Amino acid sequence: MLYYSLRHQAPPVDFRQATIAGQAPDGGLYFPERIPQFSARFLRELKTLDPATVAFEVMRPYVGDTLPEAVLRHICAEAVDFAFPLVEVTARSSALELFHGPTLAFKDVGARFMSRCLGYFSRQGQAKVTVLVATSGDTGGAVASGFLGVEGVEVIILYPAGKVSSVQELQLTTLGRNITALEVQGTFDDCQRLVKQAFGDAELGRRYFLTSANSINVARWLPQQLYYCFAWQQWPHAGPPVFAVPSGNFGNLCAGLLAYASGLPAQHFLAACNANDAVPEYLRSGRFLPQEAVATISNAMDVGNPSNFVRILELFGQEFEAMQRRISGYTVSDTRTAAAIRAVYEQHGYLLDPHGAVAYEALQQYLAHHPAAHGIFLATAHPVKFYDVVEPIIGTRVPVPEALGDLLTREKQSVVLPATFAALQQYLLAR
Ligand SMILES: *Cc1c(COP(=O)(O)O)cnc(C)c1O
Repeated sequence: MLYYSLRHQAPPVDFRQATIAGQAPDGGLYFPERIPQFSARFLRELKTLDPATVAFEVMRPYVGDTLPEAVLRHICAEAVDFAFPLVEVTARSSALELFHGPTLAFKDVGARFMSRCLGYFSRQGQAKVTVLVATSGDTGGAVASGFLGVEGVEVIILYPAGKVSSVQELQLTTLGRNITALEVQGTFDDCQRLVKQAFGDAELGRRYFLTSANSINVARWLPQQLYYCFAWQQWPHAGPPVFAVPSGNFGNLCAGLLAYASGLPAQHFLAACNANDAVPEYLRSGRFLPQEAVATISNAMDVGNPSNFVRILELFGQEFEAMQRRISGYTVSDTRTAAAIRAVYEQHGYLLDPHGAVAYEALQQYLAHHPAAHGIFLATAHPVKFYDVVEPIIGTRVPVPEALGDLLTREKQSVVLPATFAALQQYLLAR
């Protein structure tokens, strides 16, 4: 399998090269040259397969021969080494809980998969790799946890000061070792811009071998298809599900669409956004107008210019109508998000986090107009990650899961940086 740049000004590369490079030298995102099709046998047997086998079967065509089969099997098994339960919340909507990994958000799967691939590739002779990654909240923790102690890889995380939850901040600032956190005085879009600029900078290129761990990296993006397979394994209804996906940078939704293009059953997809709704707006108007990100209570989705939108366009052959037939966009305000958290807690005894709540709310709006449909909303984070938001809404404490360990008592360690490229460059060159 080869990957081409969506800007078409760089040569195609294999999985190994795409993973190491992150983005193409022309600044484009890598995209698979063909969409593998799930075999009839795979789809028939899917409901009986264990998660590691599903992961191996789905990822194998994308990886090709860049990883020996045994290595890929091992990486797959580690990447999906926790539960992905589908929990019925109302008669017609179920939560796909993607928060049972080590950092309590769905990004653990992609981050664990990618870190192990990159670790393997860097042991194959690649010089020391520096992962430079921007986070709107959860990527930082997942990537830090995935890469902690991985030899030959150093991780530098850029996060927007004051715009991530306290649990998220502790997860990405307290690990130490090969993980450094830069607290940028700006928004997530500033962080993302700085990372992109760093990749294009010749001086930094001489000092560092830089790669990214955002969902622009194929090794992080592609494994997210697995959630949709795991959902289908547990789906009890006759017709295929509607998937409501809480979206920011659109890696997750784009991966779901990829699984669908490979043959996984789905009725429809909902792009569920907070006030940062460039994609729902595009689905309404046909015009894509990236905005400055605004802060919301679902902060991991505060992305004004979603990177993976170009991949979604490519999947639909750049055809607006084709995309519109398959995806509906929803904008959910903070007020509606909070109301959904409260109502679901009171009426169904189920506690949503703000991101899952955005997807839940979008799904309810869709179901109201499609009386025969059943749906799945992706619960992308554990509510405890956002206890500062959730507790005042439900008026009670969120129980702290054991997985959090002693995190809340650890001390934050970060380097504060203005949101300018000059500052980042100076910091990196002075290290
Ligand atoms: C990152 C994140 C999202 C958005 O996912 P994208 O793939 O960037 O669209 C949604 N919810 C949570 C909890 C996240 O951490």
